[in-house]
Amino acid sequence: MDFKAIEEKWQKRYEDAKAFEPVVEPGRPKYFITFPYPYMNGYFHIGRAFSGIRAEVMARYKLMQGFNVLFPFGFHCTGTPIVAAAERIAEGEKKQMDILRKMGIPEEEIPKFADPVYWTEFFPRETKKDLKRIGAAVDWTRSFITTSLNPPYDHFIQWQMRKLKAGGYIVMGEHPVVWCPRCKSPVGDHGRLEGEGVTPEEIYLIKFKVGDAILPCGTYRPETTFGVTNLWLNPEVTYVRAKVNDEVWIVSEETIGKLENQKFAVTILEKVPGKTLIGQKVLNQVTGTEIPILPATFVDPGVGTGVVMSVPAHAPYDYAALRDIENDPKKFGLDESVISGIKLVNLITIDGYGKFPAKEIVEGMNIKNQDDPKLEEATKEIYKKEFHTGILNENTGKYKGKKVMEAKLELVSDFVHADKAAIFYELPEPVVCRDLTRCVVKIVSDQWFLNYSNPIWKAQAHKALDQMKLYPEKARKQFDYVIDWLKDWACTREYGLGTELPWDKRWVVESLSDSTIYMAFYTISKYIENPEYGIKPEQLTDEFFDYVFLSIGDAESVSKHTGISKDLLNTCKQEFEYWYPFDLRNSGKDLVQNHLAFCIFNHTALFPEKYWPKGMSVNGFLQLDGQKMSTSKGNVHTLRHICDLYGADATRMTLMYGGEGLEDPNWDSEFARNAGPRLTQWYEFAVENYGKGRDDEKYIDRWLESMTIKTLKLTKESMDNMDFRSAIQRGYFDMQRYLKWYIRRSPVPNKRLISWFIEAETKILAPFCPHVCEEIWEKIGGQGFIARAPYPSWDDSVPVDESIEKSEDFIRNVIEDIQEIVEVAQLKEAKEVFIYTADEWKYKALQLASGKNMGDAMKDVMADAEMRKHGKEVSKYVGKVVSERLVYSGVDEKAVLDEAKDFVSREVGMTVTVNPETDPENKRRHAIPGRPALLIK
Ligand code: ATP
Repeated sequence: MDFKAIEEKWQKRYEDAKAFEPVVEPGRPKYFITFPYPYMNGYFHIGRAFSGIRAEVMARYKLMQGFNVLFPFGFHCTGTPIVAAAERIAEGEKKQMDILRKMGIPEEEIPKFADPVYWTEFFPRETKKDLKRIGAAVDWTRSFITTSLNPPYDHFIQWQMRKLKAGGYIVMGEHPVVWCPRCKSPVGDHGRLEGEGVTPEEIYLIKFKVGDAILPCGTYRPETTFGVTNLWLNPEVTYVRAKVNDEVWIVSEETIGKLENQKFAVTILEKVPGKTLIGQKVLNQVTGTEIPILPATFVDPGVGTGVVMSVPAHAPYDYAALRDIENDPKKFGLDESVISGIKLVNLITIDGYGKFPAKEIVEGMNIKNQDDPKLEEATKEIYKKEFHTGILNENTGKYKGKKVMEAKLELVSDFVHADKAAIFYELPEPVVCRDLTRCVVKIVSDQWFLNYSNPIWKAQAHKALDQMKLYPEKARKQFDYVIDWLKDWACTREYGLGTELPWDKRWVVESLSDSTIYMAFYTISKYIENPEYGIKPEQLTDEFFDYVFLSIGDAESVSKHTGISKDLLNTCKQEFEYWYPFDLRNSGKDLVQNHLAFCIFNHTALFPEKYWPKGMSVNGFLQLDGQKMSTSKGNVHTLRHICDLYGADATRMTLMYGGEGLEDPNWDSEFARNAGPRLTQWYEFAVENYGKGRDDEKYIDRWLESMTIKTLKLTKESMDNMDFRSAIQRGYFDMQRYLKWYIRRSPVPNKRLISWFIEAETKILAPFCPHVCEEIWEKIGGQGFIARAPYPSWDDSVPVDESIEKSEDFIRNVIEDIQEIVEVAQLKEAKEVFIYTADEWKYKALQLASGKNMGDAMKDVMADAEMRKHGKEVSKYVGKVVSERLVYSGVDEKAVLDEAKDFVSREVGMTVTVNPETDPENKRRHAIPGRPALLIK
């Protein structure tokens, strides 16, 4: 089957017929569905396609349900990644050039990518081609790119930012942010290659004195300062003495930049090799004790300040390291006298441990030395316990008796006020920007923030969420959590593509802040983006957007001030009011914690309640070799490549069968390879059998109709829940299984039934594999596009008859039993099979005993005089019913076998006799309900 030709044929027909370019139809219910516009730094990959096609399948499904469906598609270009990648191309950087090569960009084209604008032209064009190639039901007349390169969008974002500022949602502030030193920008989750979800955490620098200088030790556990026995420095690291504010500090070289980023005034004085400090004494300013500096190569100069305090009573690493030194001081170049006075200091009491929890756990877990990997687990255990349940003891002075968790703030505040500690921010895990640079924490002031920490705004966002439909509903908890947890968001950048902040042109609006309400822009984009309508960007004033989106002002005066005709203004307004709010937004689950939550927040800030989002769906992340696919990493399967390999319909079906819910889906190439032949088979069957067959109605027709109706109901339920894998399982695989059985049972199908089945099956497949289904639809004489045909319906008056299903299961079991006996007993030459159904009394006994315990079952069965006649045999059978939990199926086995006799005979290749007069081998006594006895000769 020439899939490519079929796909091209239908894509052209869709385009010619403007099949997916809906217009406002007052009175007709609409369904507006959106997908987060992908970032234009590479070809569309199958990970994005998984989420995108889910949205699109839903669009097609709603179309078949009679909705007026709008599914537009835009292209995101805002931010630093494109500019950074273009710069790297301009610099001839190999890694970035290789990423483009790997995407399949021809060598001679690569230099063009040194210009960021080229990316914004090239990838939107190519993405559109790829999506057309996969048959996406998109209204392309509404597409656009973001940034000032697209003036209408630029004006829209300016309006949005001015509105937010006027409403008090944008504030100036000072905050620690994750910062890329190369982009010179805060880096949100979206801009990261590594470290999604990582935020700056407060740590404390405890100041130990050595001569006139300070050794600041970074710690998350300031309370343990009371138990410090020594400091650790790395003898192989070069430290620096530097003036930090009014003090002289000794820290690792790597710390200098971090201090500067966090608004410490730093002047470097001199370098100090770590080894020269080993053995010196320092003063613990909190306890007044003197302690030694000991060597430790595990001290990472990049973490904290490169200076570490040691609390061996409560920190397993410290205990293990100290023990290593005590065991062999010479190995560490130390004189015994340096360590001889060290005594463990206990300061936290926890249940289940004695005075020195770290010592206990290290010894208990048999930890060998400071390199033992088990230390990680031991540390987690002790830290968690001490933080949540620990009580400070008399060695902590005035904090004695307080819980660790509660004393922390008081203690930090006391230390900082007494100048014995300073606050510092650190990233608990590495964060790498999309431009491959390791990020740091920077305290930015003079920075604009979206005030997501505002409790009133949070309450509005919760209210909006409460009214939304979520797919799957299970995702609600995460949305709730994110709304509570979101802090203020740095919404501008100094660098990158985007819209200038209208009131402060030094800044550009960043990519997660210019993408929060743009779904509204789709409703009018075709008028304001299309020169045919004659609107110039400068006419898109705040008055214009206020009128169209918020009904502020009147057409007369807005028209006068903007120069846009009243008619056109009202057309835009009508489009917005018809389509908005959006009904569904589908995305990968990565965006819950930023984009999707921001979308909810911003809608509540800018629109009246009736325009708040109606629904969102989130799905797992399509993995490639267990890794997140990412364009910047270059480890992607592009959609075009996959479509070339398997064709559009097979690709779509494989993606949608890859998974559902929040679990990460899987791309299964084996499934994709088989999908083509499967669709060909269906095409051939459908075209060949539609409208053909017998007119008389048989029992097996009732079975197929009943099974199909039942499955259609389940399939529709799956579609309604966006459980597309289940929908394919039920609506395709199960239905095909029934069909196969039906054709075995009745090689000449019933005409009405098979035609109805073919239509239903093709329609079920249509949202997943539209092209081949259109082709079938045309061949069987369907009207118009199947894409617009009503979703399968069924005759509700046909009872879904469970007993028919059971009867067929019974027949199938009988056939399988016969085949098994022939196989096992080597009866290939056998000519006849005699089938004996169970004695009548066994059916009755089964009904009486089923579902009961042995005592009750026996009592109820033996209460029946008829049963008692069969004596011992009854108790044996009742025992079987109870132990094997047998149930009564209600199938009239004799009648069913009589009806299916010819079929069974064909299947097993023998003559079949049901319940013969004679029973020469006394077989019948072995028969039980559901399992007739068999005599094969
Ligand atoms: P990349 O890292 O490749 O640039 P991204 O995460 O930045 O991808 P976007 O360009 O923002 O992705 O993608 C748009 C949509 O595609 C989002 O809804 C996102 O959740 C989804 N998406 C991206 N990658 C995958 C994936 N591997 N599986 C499922 N959805 C994905």
